[in-house]
Amino acid sequence: MSVLPRRFQKIKNVLNSRMEDLTVLIEGVNKPHNLSAIIRTCDAAGVFQANFICDHSNVKTFNSTAQGSQKWVKLRNHESYLEATNALRKEGFKLYGTSLNENSIDYRDLDFTKNTCFVLGAEKWGLSKELIDQVDESIYIPMNGMVQSLNVSVAGAILLFEAIRQRKNNDLIPFEGEGLNQEEYKKTLFEWTYPELIDSYKKSNKDYPSLNKDGEIEK
Ligand code: SAM
Repeated sequence: MSVLPRRFQKIKNVLNSRMEDLTVLIEGVNKPHNLSAIIRTCDAAGVFQANFICDHSNVKTFNSTAQGSQKWVKLRNHESYLEATNALRKEGFKLYGTSLNENSIDYRDLDFTKNTCFVLGAEKWGLSKELIDQVDESIYIPMNGMVQSLNVSVAGAILLFEAIRQRKNNDLIPFEGEGLNQEEYKKTLFEWTYPELIDSYKKSNKDYPSLNKDGEIEK
């Protein structure tokens, strides 16, 4: 079993700049093309894991809009808004709820260089009041048109790329895997390189093997 050197290098380059401390939490977004577009943006921005509030086991999503990006962004389901906010806060995230209410702050006035989670809401109703009450800060993207709001995936892209812009300006974009803990890095490198072997390792309860510099499995 082996991987082409160019493919392995591409996988490593992408993983090396993934960030665990930038994420989204998505509540009630139910159109597959919107979910897929958000995940595709997460991939482009370097988000390692995206969070969903979803009481059934799998986020129903993907169509051609995702362009396969769901393979490269970890998806984490939470059963309720409270479980999600407690878990993310425990991990050190600051929660930025997107909401067009009078207490919201213009997103351009905030610092997203550390532990940032953008909380995005449903196409029709936006975020639930319960979730808005849980966030650390409410933010908005100023609107100058006749229509009151943006498509949720567009709003997510603006916010994520603002975080990237700020991090770039401060030399905070990882480039050699320092954006992930080393165990997660090693595990993900194996899973991205050899997806067809994941099941057999899991079934036999064995740890993944190490890979050498060319991506070959070490004996
Ligand atoms: N009527 C809903 C409301 O008042 O929130 C509009 C929902 S909007 C179509 C869907 C989601 O996109 C929102 O929950 C938010 O996450 C995001 N969004 C859209 N426009 C936004 C803006 N100008 N600022 C911040 N987030 C926005």
